[in-house]
Amino acid sequence: MDRLKGKVAVITGGSHGIGAAAVTRMAEEGASVAILDCLDDEGHALASKLSGQGHQVAYWHCDVGDEENVKTAINSAAEKFGHVDVLVNNAGISGPNKPTHELTEEEWDLVQKINVKGVFFCTKHAIPHMKKAGRGSIINLSSIYGLVSAPDIPPYHASKGAVRLMTKTDAMIYAPDNIRANSIHPGFIWTPMVEGHLKTTGEDLEAAKQATAALHPLGHMGEPDDIAWGIVFLASEESKFMTGSELVIDGGYTAH
Ligand code: NAP
Repeated sequence: MDRLKGKVAVITGGSHGIGAAAVTRMAEEGASVAILDCLDDEGHALASKLSGQGHQVAYWHCDVGDEENVKTAINSAAEKFGHVDVLVNNAGISGPNKPTHELTEEEWDLVQKINVKGVFFCTKHAIPHMKKAGRGSIINLSSIYGLVSAPDIPPYHASKGAVRLMTKTDAMIYAPDNIRANSIHPGFIWTPMVEGHLKTTGEDLEAAKQATAALHPLGHMGEPDDIAWGIVFLASEESKFMTGSELVIDGGYTAH
């Protein structure tokens, strides 16, 4: 119930999917939570549902690829809740499912802008608040696609590999400030992102779902809560000796 009591978490892409599950679990565990997303209706609805249950949750419109948006939203969240000591860099897109030689520069850049530069901007503007608070936990959503390859979505693989190593660099830079940074590497989790990605394969959706499920030794895809509980753990003091690490939650996908 109180694993995150007294903590203030900023989470990007918290309006639906993994982010929404993490918002819910962090709030239930006692954190004040700032949702930053572009999906305004869903974000406001989640914030008011959880606030109605007595939790401290508020929504800010924020495109993580826009530094001014990020700076304003994070500063405003710190002002509203008193400080910021948890940042969950969750917003991300899978991008176009084309082989490398067919991709345009614009398609490549958009994925890097949201998945990589968004993590940079949010980290940059959360760090001063964490230094002020004297502690911090940065949780970056990488992927199994940041650990191993597959013959699809090249810009996404590049972005998630970058996020994995950005996490380790920030872990080393900010360890003296008592700020930890860890990455999470989910297997396929059934969310709007995965549904959208499977639709790009051109296969029947049910057949594509079954084939994707079969890639995991446990025999099924994960659900958003499987990742949300990992986020709660990394945000909490239960993980206080953990930094620069990779938390792989993938139903055995990378165990081959
Ligand atoms: P999702 O269902 O698509 O949710 C992502 C959220 O981020 C959405 O609310 C999305 O809004 C938002 N977002 C996108 N671009 C944004 C921007 N520029 N600024 C602010 N918010 C933005 O995705 P998910 O499956 O929950 O994935 C969450 C994270 O986990 C991602 O980083 C993803 O790469 C990673 N991950 C997911 C899986 C999986 O299987 N689901 C596996 C490995 C890693 P819109 O809907 O408007 O774009």
